[in-house]
Amino acid sequence: ERQETISVQSCVEYALRLFHSRLRAGQINVEQHIPRETLWVKGDLVRLEQVIVNLISNALQAMKDTPMPTLLVTVKTDASHVSIHIADSGPGIDEAHFDQIFEPFFTTKAPGSGLGLGLSISSRIMEDLSGKLYAYNRDEGGAEFSVTLPLADAPR
Ligand code: ADP
Ligand code: MG
Repeated sequence: ERQETISVQSCVEYALRLFHSRLRAGQINVEQHIPRETLWVKGDLVRLEQVIVNLISNALQAMKDTPMPTLLVTVKTDASHVSIHIADSGPGIDEAHFDQIFEPFFTTKAPGSGLGLGLSISSRIMEDLSGKLYAYNRDEGGAEFSVTLPLADAPR
């Protein structure tokens, strides 16, 4: 397992860049609330990127039939932690499935379009990074997933 000092912003930017043409093709409105000051965490860059990519991928799939799809990407920080929030304007998480969405192979997607591994792998990765992955439904509608990580000192 690699232990590098990672810029949270660069992880988020990487993931958004990866989806750039899909966001455009799907006419997805992207709202970003990201602090300018670089926030650092420790861990494996590729794996944190993978988590963010999984969450964005789920958000886009959830908004397939949503008029005016909006992807909201927010980064917040306090004295000790940073959190990355990926929210969508889709139908939200089915309340009956809340307990199961982090289980391996749980999917509500059609056969062939979802293996049901994204969230279980992502929550394992977050544990390895001393972080956590949370799921909520938003009052405004849609789902929100957030990852929380301990802040690290800037690299020197
Ligand atoms: P998959 O995407 O292959 O179905 P995941 O582990 O990524 O597997 O997600 C598991 C399930 O969690 C999904 O099938 C879906 O029911 C639910 N889910 C995940 N993200 C969202 C979201 N943004 N909105 C609504 N439901 C979601
Ligand atoms: Mg998925």
